[in-house]
Amino acid sequence: MTKKISLTNKILIAMGLGLVIGSLINIFAQEQAIIQDYFVAGIFYVIGTAFINALKMLVVPLVTFSLICGVCGIGDVGVLGRIGVKSFLLYIMTTGIAITLALVVAITIAPGKDFTRQQQTTEFVAKPSPPLTDVFINIIPSNPIEAFAEGNMLQIIFFVILFAIAMLMTGDIGRQLADTAEKLNEVMMQVVTLVMDFAPIGVFCLMAKTFSEQGFALIVPMIGYFSVVILCLLLHAIGTFSLLVSVFAKLNPLTFFKKMRPAHIFAFSTASSNATIPITLQALEKRIGVNNTTAAFTVPFGATINMDGTAIMQGVATVFIANVYQIDLGVTQYITIVGMSILASIGTAGVPGVGLIMLAMVFNQVGLPVEGIGLILGVDRLLDMMRTVVNITGDATVTCIVARGEGTLDDAIFNNPEAGTIPELHLPHKTA
Ligand code: ASP
Repeated sequence: MTKKISLTNKILIAMGLGLVIGSLINIFAQEQAIIQDYFVAGIFYVIGTAFINALKMLVVPLVTFSLICGVCGIGDVGVLGRIGVKSFLLYIMTTGIAITLALVVAITIAPGKDFTRQQQTTEFVAKPSPPLTDVFINIIPSNPIEAFAEGNMLQIIFFVILFAIAMLMTGDIGRQLADTAEKLNEVMMQVVTLVMDFAPIGVFCLMAKTFSEQGFALIVPMIGYFSVVILCLLLHAIGTFSLLVSVFAKLNPLTFFKKMRPAHIFAFSTASSNATIPITLQALEKRIGVNNTTAAFTVPFGATINMDGTAIMQGVATVFIANVYQIDLGVTQYITIVGMSILASIGTAGVPGVGLIMLAMVFNQVGLPVEGIGLILGVDRLLDMMRTVVNITGDATVTCIVARGEGTLDDAIFNNPEAGTIPELHLPHKTA
């Protein structure tokens, strides 16, 4: 008797295979032109990038329809405001915990004390980071079409919420539109399912490409920094999130993590919280049981403003570089780092590598040499993948807490192990 492998497990296997094959290519086939040209820069690159594009393609329409449904489902501007304020405060609080934890652990372990700077290989030229005043002004789109075209999440959220509130105010017309939005949302969810069916091959190619380029050799000189970041990510995920999920959302953290698994896999392979939004939404709504009225708002909002994993990397990186350059940081500078990391997390979208750009801003503020970022550049992609998993888990944790407070969490769905298992594609076909 053959046991059917679930799609999630297939994706997981593809991920492992990609990791192994990519690493093998990195070790044995760096110089093999055929493998590099046809596989790494060919098949892996093309399919992997096409898959990320397909995921990104889902984000804007899904967030739009889902948010319209969410706002219309809530039906009360006061409640909407409450969800907004609660999630915003919780996002800031969890990021604050994350960066504080990272600083405490990094100061205690002191990575980088014995580091010799000759090991520096990569040059880092800081891209300008957006001024923070602009971050707030730019929440209001001067041209919503442009916001949609660029996928500017905060602007889209702002416009869609305003639009949906207006729908609520226009009575019957608004209600008809809401019905349509609900149907469109349903269809979009189905599009997500369609794209997910290609996930095993997409994830395989993404992993194989990344690991054939990265390899583990890069980590060796950076092992101190690398392992402190991982330790802090684990502490925050297993410690802080488990505690918050069980105390405030009254959910079993183990089940919570298990149900988040598909989203974790996507976050890890894409290193982008934004591209993972469709999967995070599905996991929260269909597997964990959070109602669309909460998740539709908190998930895209969190993917944009909440980055606990990124804040952790920034905390450890600051201490590491300060140690390498033998610069003493004082209490005021540490407090500045906490504040800057929270602001940086709010001000940047969840896309790969953005954490480093924001790190430059933190360094400038506390007077650390920005070129020091060149030291950690080589291992950043791997850490990016891991911190993105923590970033989206933070979004999900806050979503569950808010949903529990609002009474929009369905425990029956949460406790059903079969709920929301990713459906496989069955295209409608004519029978003979
Ligand atoms: N890749 C991260 C995310 O999308 C952001 C970062 O840390 O660079 O959440």
